[in-house]
Amino acid sequence: MIVADNTNNDHINAPIVIIGGGAGGLELATKLGRYYKKRQQRVVLVDQNRTHIWKPLLHEVAAGALDSEIDGVDYLAIAHKNGFTFQLGTMIDLNRESKTVYLAPLIDDAQQLVLEKRELNYSKLIFALGSITNDFGTEGAAQNCIFLDSPKSAQNFHTLLLNEFLKLQDDTSKDTLEISIVGAGATGVELSAELYKTTELLKTYGYTHLHNNRLKVRIIESGPRLLPALPERIANSTQIELEKLGVEIILNTFVTKVEATGLYTKDGNFIKSNISVWAAGIKAPEFLQGLAGLETNKINQLIVNQDLITTLDDSIYAIGDCAHCIMPDGSKVPPRAQSAHQMASNVFTNIKSAEQGKELKPYLYVDYGSLVSLSTYSTIGSLMGNMTKGSMFIEGRLARIVYISLYRMHQMVIFGKAKTLLIMLVNKLNKRLRPNLKLH
Ligand SMILES: Cc1cc2nc3c(=O)[nH]c(=O)nc-3n(C[C@H](O)[C@H](O)[C@H](O)COP(=O)(O)OP(=O)(O)OC[C@H]3O[C@@H](n4cnc5c(N)ncnc54)[C@H](O)[C@@H]3O)c2cc1C
Repeated sequence: MIVADNTNNDHINAPIVIIGGGAGGLELATKLGRYYKKRQQRVVLVDQNRTHIWKPLLHEVAAGALDSEIDGVDYLAIAHKNGFTFQLGTMIDLNRESKTVYLAPLIDDAQQLVLEKRELNYSKLIFALGSITNDFGTEGAAQNCIFLDSPKSAQNFHTLLLNEFLKLQDDTSKDTLEISIVGAGATGVELSAELYKTTELLKTYGYTHLHNNRLKVRIIESGPRLLPALPERIANSTQIELEKLGVEIILNTFVTKVEATGLYTKDGNFIKSNISVWAAGIKAPEFLQGLAGLETNKINQLIVNQDLITTLDDSIYAIGDCAHCIMPDGSKVPPRAQSAHQMASNVFTNIKSAEQGKELKPYLYVDYGSLVSLSTYSTIGSLMGNMTKGSMFIEGRLARIVYISLYRMHQMVIFGKAKTLLIMLVNKLNKRLRPNLKLH
C-alpha cells in the first residue's frame, strides 16, 4: 500500500481532503486552496478523472455540440494555480478511526497497474462525489442502455451515434435511426433536442442523405408529464417545442426490460430502438451505503445536518448529489448544480468559521429557478427569487443567457473573472475556426 500523501502521516497536520472534483467539489477545492495558500493547512482534491467537465454539459458532449478534449479542465493545472494538490484516483473505502481514505489501485486502459492501492490521511473530509444513474434494477438496462454519468460515457454515446449516422448515410434503404430515452427529466429532454441539432449539422458536413425525419427520438416516461420536478407550464411549453422537432413523447409508460434491439413496457409493448439511453433517476455511488458506519439513505446518499456535516462524524461533510439534506420546511435539497454550488460556498464559509471559533452558518437551499435548454432551438424556464417576487416564466434569448450564466458562475469560481472572459472570447473565436460539431 502506498501512502498517497507522504508528507504527512498523522491526522493532526493532515490535509483537508475533498473527494470528487465536480460542480461542488472543484469549487470548494479552489476556494479552500486559495484561502490556505499561505497558511500551514494543505488541501487535497481526489478525482477519478484527470480533467473536469461540468456535468450539466454532458448531453452536449454526447451529441457532439461540445468537445470534452477541448473544454475539459485539467485538475493538475487548476490545483497548481490555486494552492491545492490533486490526486488522481477512485476512493473505495474509509477508516474513520485512523481518519484514512483508501484509493483503488490505478489501472490504465491496457489493464496495466500504474499505482498500487493508496491511503490518504485527512483532518477534514468532504464527500463531493456526485451521483450515478439509477436504473432501479430494471432487467437488461445496465447491459443495453447508455448512462450519461461521466465524460467517458458521453463520449462513447457520441461515437456510437456517429457510427449509426454513417450506416444511415451509407444505406439509403434503411429508413430511420431510432433512439429511446427513458426518463423525461432535464437530461432526457435536453439530449433529445441536441440530437436533432446534430442531424441538422451533419447534413451540412456532407451527410446529404441525413434528414431529421430519418431520426426518431422517443422519450419514455412513467409519469403523466415531462419534467416532473419543474413547473407544469415549463413542461407544457417544452413538450410543444420537442414535438415540433419530431420527438415522440410516450407518457404513463413503465419500462420493464431492455434488450439490445429495444425496450419492453409494462403494458406488454415492445419499442424498437437502435440506441437506448437511461436517464430516469439518480443514486449516490454504491460503496457509500453504510460506509464506515456513516448514516445513508436508500439511494446511498450520506445523511447530513443543516451544517452539511454527516450525522455521526463531525469531521466529515457531504455536498452536492451525494448528500441527503433536509431543509427546515421538510423539503429535500434537489440534486442540481445550483445546490452543489451553494453547498460548496457554505462549507467553505463554515470551515473558516470553525477555524476562527465562530458560529457555523446553517445551509439554506435557495431555488433561483430552473431552465431547460433545447439546443439552439429554444430555452424555457422560470426564475425565482426576491427580484421576481415568486416564479417568473421566461423563454428565448433571455432564458438562454440565464441558462449559460449558471455555467459562467462555475467558471468564475474556478478561473476568476478575467480568465472566464478570455475563455468566452476563445469560445467565440472557436465558433468561427472550428466545426460546429465534434465530427470524431
Ligand atoms: C446531462 C445532465 C444535465 C444536467 N443539467 C442540469 C441543469 O441544467 N441544471 C442543474 O442544476 N443540474 C443539472 N444536472 C445535474 C447536475 O449536473 C448535478 O446535480 C451536479 O453536477 C452535482 O454536482 P456534484 O458536485 O455533487 O457532483 P458532480 O458534478 O457529478 O461531480 C462528482 C465528481 O466526483 C468524481 N467521483 C465520483 N466518484 C468518485 C470516487 N469514488 N473517487 C473519486 N472521484 C469520484 C467524479 O469523477 C466527478 O468529477 C444535470 C445532470 C446531467 C447528467
